[in-house]
Amino acid sequence: MNFTTRFRVPPGHGLSLARHRTDATPGVSGKTEARQLLRRGVERLADLQEKLYAQDRWALLVIFQAMDAAGKDSTIKHVMSGVNPQGCQVFSFKAPSKEELDHDYLWRSVRALPERGRIGIHNRSYYEEVLVVRVHPELLDHQRLPGTRRGIWRRRFREIRDFERHLADNGTRVLKFFLHVSREEQKRRFLDRLNGPEKGWKFSPDDVHERDFWNDYIHAYEDAMAATSTAGAPWFVVPADNKWFTRAAVSEIICDAIEDLGVKFPEVPARTRAEWKQARTTLMKER
Ligand code: ATP
Ligand code: MG
Repeated sequence: MNFTTRFRVPPGHGLSLARHRTDATPGVSGKTEARQLLRRGVERLADLQEKLYAQDRWALLVIFQAMDAAGKDSTIKHVMSGVNPQGCQVFSFKAPSKEELDHDYLWRSVRALPERGRIGIHNRSYYEEVLVVRVHPELLDHQRLPGTRRGIWRRRFREIRDFERHLADNGTRVLKFFLHVSREEQKRRFLDRLNGPEKGWKFSPDDVHERDFWNDYIHAYEDAMAATSTAGAPWFVVPADNKWFTRAAVSEIICDAIEDLGVKFPEVPARTRAEWKQARTTLMKER
């Protein structure tokens, strides 16, 4: 099963999330096989990340979006578990601060972009600006925008496409994951969080309230993903009712994308080889 082609949202088409099963596990028989796949993915990513870093040409930006409790945090934790911490940065984006609201909505993301050679993980992102803000348009009041709000979502889709195009043209590959969880599974996970302190700290009563807007969110996600899934910055809708499956699939898709960049250790020029030879001789002569 090739998860990259299976879960990629094709550019230029409408998207219906109802047609994407949240509990699908294509090509994977169960937990045991998924764990093996993930283990292989973690090793593969460690190796690819080292080359990405050594080559110092490309950066990778990986965006995670989802409903609450879909498993963003634990997916990041597991998929990135083998990667050298020096080559990877994780940022979580919450409701914008006063300072952030004094800038345009891309500003805080730009400041958190990965440097060349690195992998940047954004746990939520500027997509919130066409998701939570679209579901609760009163949030726009804090943004003190000039001009009319008419056509604002279309305009933001265009701005995001342009921004991601700019990133791609300048060496940052962008991957975007929507972890697709069902409303029933979310309820189960919320109830699980209420069982004790280990998970209880993750619970916020607002999360339950937000469930009332489930369909609005689904619609906003469909629209946003259909408008912004491009060849250079594709969206992937990954089934998220089974966390073991989500992790295996995300891991493989990230690896495929880095491999696709053709990362390799930089060639050693003849002059450097000569210097190495000289250094080796000097070291061997030491006593
Ligand atoms: P979990 O899934 O564990 O709950 P989380 O990513 O939801 O993790 P929280 O601290 O619960 O983390 O929530 C972050 C909140 O910040 C989300 O409700 C999100 O919608 C909100 N948020 C993020 N970016 C923006 C934005 N630009 N404008 C308004 N709200 C935002
Ligand atoms: Mg939350």
